[in-house]
Amino acid sequence: MSQFQYACGECGFRTPWSTESQGAEWQEAHYAQRHPGIPPGGMVRTRDRGRSGSGGGGGCVGLVAALFVLLLVASTCRSTARSAPAQAPVAISWEVLR
Ligand SMILES: [Zn+2]
Repeated sequence: MSQFQYACGECGFRTPWSTESQGAEWQEAHYAQRHPGIPPGGMVRTRDRGRSGSGGGGGCVGLVAALFVLLLVASTCRSTARSAPAQAPVAISWEVLR
């Protein structure tokens, strides 16, 4: 869920974080009140609601990466241990055709 903040292009006014339609409404009302005759302009910012701090996110990614490497190593050891006896009985003989 994203939130929108509109900033006036004529002065330092900014709307509170809200929905896109609500922000545009406030922006238009501000221009009608403070800058009559000027078409609404300025800038709009967006942010995602519910996003945690970047520090915690980075630590989580590092933990997941470490777990992934551990799983990778474990599966590699297991697959070599399993496949080795299975491959051993298979005898491959080459016949030379003349
Ligand atoms: Zn303004």
